[in-house]
This record gives sequence, C-alpha cells and structure tokens, in this order.
Amino acid sequence: MRSRRHIIYMVIVTEIGCDFLKIGIPRALLFQFYYPLWRSLFERLGCEVVVSDTSTKNLVQKGIAVTVPEICFPIKIYNGHVINLIEKDVDYIFCPRFVHIEKGYWFCPKYIGLPELVWKTIPEAKLLVIDIDCRREDTADLKCYMPIAKKLGVSSHKFKQAFKGAIADFEKFRGLCIRGLTLDEAAEVMFEGKKFEDFKIPKYETTIGLLGYIYNVYDPFISMNIIKKLRELEVNVITFDMLDPKDLLKHRSEETRRIFWTFPDKLYQAATVMIKDMNVQGLIHITAFGCGPDSIVGKEIEHDYADSGVPFMTLRIDEHTGESHLQTRIEAFTDMIKRKIRKVNER
Ligand code: SF4
Repeated sequence: MRSRRHIIYMVIVTEIGCDFLKIGIPRALLFQFYYPLWRSLFERLGCEVVVSDTSTKNLVQKGIAVTVPEICFPIKIYNGHVINLIEKDVDYIFCPRFVHIEKGYWFCPKYIGLPELVWKTIPEAKLLVIDIDCRREDTADLKCYMPIAKKLGVSSHKFKQAFKGAIADFEKFRGLCIRGLTLDEAAEVMFEGKKFEDFKIPKYETTIGLLGYIYNVYDPFISMNIIKKLRELEVNVITFDMLDPKDLLKHRSEETRRIFWTFPDKLYQAATVMIKDMNVQGLIHITAFGCGPDSIVGKEIEHDYADSGVPFMTLRIDEHTGESHLQTRIEAFTDMIKRKIRKVNER
C-alpha cells in the first residue's frame, strides 16, 4: 500500500509538472520542420526551451571530432548540436526516434538509430527519447508523445491539453508554409511577431524547384543560404515543404517506382508535382556527403524525368565545400535556364 508520504510526493510532482526543467532541442535534422510543435508543447508544459546555436564551423567540427567518419554529414552536425546543448547545461536533450509517419514507409536507418548513435558517441548526453511510430502524416500522433508526460511527471490531462494546443500551432505553421513562406519565415511569424504580409514573396519569370531534406535546405552551414542566393538571382524557389501534403500524393499511384523511405519519397513526389503541375524550369537537388538514400533517389529523379526537358543539377555538400563553388554553380545553372526561357520567348 502507498504511504501518505508517497501520495503527497506524487501530488507535488503532478502539480509542478516540468516547470524549471530546461529542455534542449538540437537545431539539426528535422528541427526546422517540427520546432513549432516541439517548442509549443514544452512551453505549454511549463518547461524552458533551449535551442542550440546556429551551425558554425566550430560547432560542426566538434560533431565531426566525436562521430565515426563513415556516417553522413548531417549526423555529424547533429552531434555538434548535442555538444552545444550540453555546454548550455540543459536538463534533457529532446531526441525523437523517427520510425514511421506513414504505413509502408520508413525513416532512414540513421533516424531510427539516432538516440543510440548519440549515446555511443556522447555518453554524457541526457536524452529525452520518444518513438515516432505512427500513421499520421505531417501532424504528430498523441500516443507517440505521451511517454513525455510520464518522464517529466506531468498529468495526462495537462499533457493532452498542451498537446492539443501545440498541434493547433503546428497546423498554423504548416499553413503559412503552404501559402509560400519558407520554414524560417513561417517560424518568424509564429514566434517573432512578424506577419505573413511582411514577407514580400517575389514573383520572377524563372522558377526552380529546390529538392533536399529540411536540414540540407535550411541549415545555413550545409545550404549556405541557397534560397536567399537563388532569390538574389531573381528566381522563384519552391521547396517540398511549401507543397500541400495532399498534392504530394497526387501522382503516387501513377508511378511505377516506389521509394520506401519517408523523406526520399517526399522528394521524389515533390519533383513529380513540380514538373507535371507547377511547370518549374529547373530542379536543384541539394544533398549531403555520405547520404545513402539520396544516392538512389537523386539518380531516380534524374533518370525518370530525363525526357521532361527540365534541367536537373545535384549539389553535394560536405565540410570542405566552399561558398564560392556553390555560388558559381547556381549562377551557371540559372543563367542557362534564363537563356532557354529567352529563346522560347523570342520564337
Ligand atoms: S537521409 Fe541521408 S542525410 Fe539524412 S540522415 Fe539518412 S543518410 Fe543522413
């Protein structure tokens, strides 16, 4: 039987919830996509959310130094962010293990084994791990997140309320992206008092589809701010996160090809929608060194749409890639597309 003292302790824990706890979130991998959901959830639970610093050479080097060399570049960067959060003295580092968000499609093995990858390389990291193994696309499933309530000593009623609010915030955020904002711009609307109208989404003659995982497109160390660079070259940029998830499924049944990994499939479907429905004039695939799935999906897109007449360029990034190299390649690519458009217009 529980003692009176034990019952009092339980009540205190339930009422306090996770107030005073500092939850660290690494600014890496799927951070930009899920940050509004995660931040909203932990803040609604009364925690302080601490985000790691933006990727810098120094932060990335720390990750590289502790990680096995064979692994892909984004995982090395993730470890750099974990070290950065340990330096910030957080109580827990939130490290979700992504397995499924759709039946029949799996996350890349590095996501599935991410907590173990971190534990083995940085044993002092105190991770808060949950398994994202659900069937809900885009928004998250409560049952995957419920273990947080137990780990942080929050009542299930309080947790469910917080989760409901966090999902509403996340859906608002995704709506902003689908209206054309980048993930960074949408986050500014959510958390920094900006309005949708503050972002003048440019409209140019040339439109390029930028294919790449969230971290490859949005981590400034990997992408070297490629969206900004393309806009400066007077190009409209569409990324897969700006597409409605329903549209991404439109052509899936017509395709003979099936990609079994979640995000590589999204990239393949995004390329299909961009070519068939959005008339993009070029596709750029930005990929990080050491990515197994990308070495397949990039080739598949290139091969399957070789007859579409849409030029395709791959940019492979690692820690040695120079910004001037990237700038030269995107300038040459956009020049070529603009010349092609001019020729068509002159006919
Ligand atoms: S999809 Fe590629 S880049 Fe992303 S974690 Fe897996 S191997 Fe690394």
